[in-house]
Amino acid sequence: MTMSAVPRQVYLDNNATTSCLPDVVAEMLPFFSEQFGNPSSIHAIGAGVAPSIQAARERLQKLLGAAHDSEIVFTSGGTESDTTAIMSALRALPERREIITSAVEHHAVLSVCEYLAKHEGYKLHVIGVDGQGRLDLKAYEAALSENVALVSIMWANNETGTIFPIEHLAQMAKPFGILFHTDGVQAVGKIPLRLSNSAIDMLSLSSHKIHGPKGVGALYVKRGAKFRPLFRGGHQERGRRAGTENTAGIVGLGKAAELALAGIKDENTRVRAMRDRLEGELVARIPNSIVAGDVDQRLPNTTTIAFEFVEGEAILLMLSRAGIAASSGSACTSGSLEPSHVMRAMQIPFTAAHGATRFSLSRENSEQDVDRVIEVLPDIINRLRAMSPYWSTATGAPAAFQPAYS
Ligand SMILES: *Cc1c(COP(=O)(O)O)cnc(C)c1O
Repeated sequence: MTMSAVPRQVYLDNNATTSCLPDVVAEMLPFFSEQFGNPSSIHAIGAGVAPSIQAARERLQKLLGAAHDSEIVFTSGGTESDTTAIMSALRALPERREIITSAVEHHAVLSVCEYLAKHEGYKLHVIGVDGQGRLDLKAYEAALSENVALVSIMWANNETGTIFPIEHLAQMAKPFGILFHTDGVQAVGKIPLRLSNSAIDMLSLSSHKIHGPKGVGALYVKRGAKFRPLFRGGHQERGRRAGTENTAGIVGLGKAAELALAGIKDENTRVRAMRDRLEGELVARIPNSIVAGDVDQRLPNTTTIAFEFVEGEAILLMLSRAGIAASSGSACTSGSLEPSHVMRAMQIPFTAAHGATRFSLSRENSEQDVDRVIEVLPDIINRLRAMSPYWSTATGAPAAFQPAYS
């Protein structure tokens, strides 16, 4: 046996997190040392930092196509932005006791809504999706009423990349006086956004999904939209989010936003072409593989392929041994044996959902990364199917017993 060199690392899990780009790190570094001041201070050491925060706010405004830089509220990330938006809407419209969300939201939205339904008596409308992950528009329309305080529906799904018609959904909610929030964490930086003439009241984003640092994000709050802060205390962020600013993080997010805006074209041309080649080659070379989600309305960087009759965890471990990082979809589902709530909502059969593997690319990927997966994955799937109790290598067909959702 020959010892092979450590394989080159291929990172295809960019919907879970992205690398913090060197230019982003470089802009952040002074804010840990020379520029350590508190931007609320009167003295020069503190006040000197404020313009850098303002510059970051303007960079985010540009990325979102927002009308005013004051519509950006910095937070600690996507999760805080989601919670802030949801709690704000309910407190701003206390007489309304209903919430609309979707069955495929990130847990940062779904868990909060479920908690509010279970423990605070809210009526929750969870709008389902079809087999391609497309939202049930009839059910959505039927749920809209003046009893609804908030709609919270994601712009693009983190597991499948499916894009929802968010502007249309927001327009539909408007006549009822509902506050409309969208989790835009996966959409931002991948599809062009223009919130200035939009019916969207609030949008969440996260820095570490767009090549910025972790632990920082923002909530877009449209001028005039009713808002109630989650954190009260100091007057930071115009009283909308108390707490001394994460100056280095905010500066990093600002730089990442600038680079994301410059990179959107690359995402939608080069990255999209790499994603399409990866998906096309894998589906052609591996029988019984199904692309999950809406392939037409989809983020340019994401493909989730369900390889039937194999365990997603086993695929990920064998890919990892080959130096390739992918995911089974929701990071939060890793470690549990049930397929994700997104696969279940799409009614992907259990034996396929179990082998669902997500490849999420970024501007940092190259054609060689794609080549590497195409080179190693077909053999991995063959080997796993040979061991699978749900697949008969002898007959080349599914075994008689197939597991199901609990
Ligand atoms: C990652 C992610 C979040 C959570 O963002 P954090 O900054 O990690 O808290 C929320 N929603 C979606 C769709 C995500 O992909």
